[in-house]
Amino acid sequence: MAITSPFSYPEEIKDKFIATPGLKFKDGSTVSSAEIWEFMTKEAPRRFPYAFDAGANNMGRFSDDVHFLSGIKRGYLTLTLKDRVMKQHAAGTPTVLVQGGQAMDAYYAAGGIPVRPGLVMQWARNMEEGLSLRQSETLGLNILESGRRKISIDACNQIAAHAAIDNKVVPIDLIAPFLCLRCSDMSFLVETHRNRVHDIPRYLVDYPVDHENKPWAAEYIAVELRELIDKIAALSGRKITDEVLFDEIKLENRGRRIATEIADLWWGAENPPTNSTDFFGIAFLANDFVGDPVAAVDLLEQSKKEIEERIQNNVKGFGVPDHAKRLFICGSCVGPNAHHAQTAGAIFVGRDDSWSCISVPVQEEGDPYLNIAKSMLAYPYEQRTEKRAEWTADMVKRSRADGVIFMYQWGCNYQSGVARMISDIVKERAGVVTTFVEVGELGRSEATEQSTNRVEAFIEMV
Ligand code: SF4
Repeated sequence: MAITSPFSYPEEIKDKFIATPGLKFKDGSTVSSAEIWEFMTKEAPRRFPYAFDAGANNMGRFSDDVHFLSGIKRGYLTLTLKDRVMKQHAAGTPTVLVQGGQAMDAYYAAGGIPVRPGLVMQWARNMEEGLSLRQSETLGLNILESGRRKISIDACNQIAAHAAIDNKVVPIDLIAPFLCLRCSDMSFLVETHRNRVHDIPRYLVDYPVDHENKPWAAEYIAVELRELIDKIAALSGRKITDEVLFDEIKLENRGRRIATEIADLWWGAENPPTNSTDFFGIAFLANDFVGDPVAAVDLLEQSKKEIEERIQNNVKGFGVPDHAKRLFICGSCVGPNAHHAQTAGAIFVGRDDSWSCISVPVQEEGDPYLNIAKSMLAYPYEQRTEKRAEWTADMVKRSRADGVIFMYQWGCNYQSGVARMISDIVKERAGVVTTFVEVGELGRSEATEQSTNRVEAFIEMV
């Protein structure tokens, strides 16, 4: 189905859509599919017109596969994040800044809502409504620029999220990420809040790097986890028991398990059953949970059924090119534009970030603190570089990728440092072509020709 500008969902799919189940939320509330339809076709286009800009440069635009009905519900969760978090925050639920690449079981169990820098910026941009894509981006760039002036010029675009918090664009009650190896900028950006006007409470969850020969590492993290959970629980008023923790672990494990099953189904299909946007948007729910793990797991279950049906009927996702070149994406929190890549003949079949967390379940018996700590130490993305590259090569083979793009943001010191080494090892072990690309476009959808051209040239080479 051809897309129009602005993008809209066609009326002829309405009856089919509203016959599907709605979504359940962690507070026990539900939303029907008829209500989701009303929101996505009337309320959201009015409040968030930028999200419906159909231009190929709109990195965050929805999937044009309107017949993949779970994709519409994914868009609903994205666009209702602000309303849901603000409502819960007003009712006393603490919001906590975390980083990408870490599980969220402990934060949700303690009664908080963990949000990553990317979600903080999405939330911050949605605080002003009725904006076009350009207006929304200008708002985001202005926040980024204030962060550069007030905090540091020498950091990735995560600095925008820290500026949004410091400027009180969004209310964050605690800044408490895990300081994993992956993220060179998070640690010092957390510390900069110590000197800011608002002095938002912080808690640094330290993470021992190169921990293979450190038998104390899991216990060390577990002790910090107890303190972290106590701090969040003091804000939320929730009484934390092992049972509370295990309930959350089991729920999020279910999400991780379904996402892994979806990936296995998707990789084994003769034709990719969804386009890249829907594949990543659905599977990565098990890493992001978009403010509500109950709703995210509910949608993962619905999506799996829909994907199974498509595979049984050999349906190819809308927008997937014939004989698409399969690309695996590596690197820091940035990725090539899926819409451009599809136009150039490629589809994305996986990425190391996000899959790293999803691929490690937390043990469901014993000491829940120690179990979470052990799972964090097992993330493939956080291992020594050669070991991480070997895991990546294995994922490249499992996903039947034809090539690998390692992309990283300007300012991301760690990922820029390992890009070449990982690309070379994956090339050798998986036997596919690889490239690495630095992007300095920092949240823009205009003037992105530099990276787009390099990605297109790589696809042609593949
Ligand atoms: S780009 Fe790098 S430094 Fe910045 S948030 Fe992502 S991983 Fe961390």
